[in-house]
Amino acid sequence: MRKQCKCGESMAIRLRLVIYQNKVEIDNVPVYVCESCHVSEVLGLIKPELTQLISSLGKRPKKQQLKFDEISEVAYLLLKVTEKERLDEPVESIIEERINELLDMLILAQSLKDDAWMDDIRMRLGQLTKHTLLRHDPA
Ligand SMILES: [Zn+2]
Repeated sequence: MRKQCKCGESMAIRLRLVIYQNKVEIDNVPVYVCESCHVSEVLGLIKPELTQLISSLGKRPKKQQLKFDEISEVAYLLLKVTEKERLDEPVESIIEERINELLDMLILAQSLKDDAWMDDIRMRLGQLTKHTLLRHDPA
């Protein structure tokens, strides 16, 4: 999950607080940070969700605090992975556990006939299955 910086050093993923228009604080946004020249860059994977979030805020957003891990499944999983007690666990098992959790929620949402909730869960499941970055590459 590393990326190379223009300066040649490798960049690590960090969860950062992003402040939009000095008003909206978005916490836990995954960014690549270069430990050498301190350049940072938003993960390409989460750009669609972040762009969507920002456009939903409108041109004059209210002062508010958001948690990106509640919107983006990738941010949520990165947050889980970086929790100290889970460092030894393979990412796959964390993803699998989250997928099972979402499937349980989907069954619950279906039984309540809550369409909005079902759509939300389906969107989250889609985010998890769409991204392959979190899977370990055997090569
Ligand atoms: Zn650099």
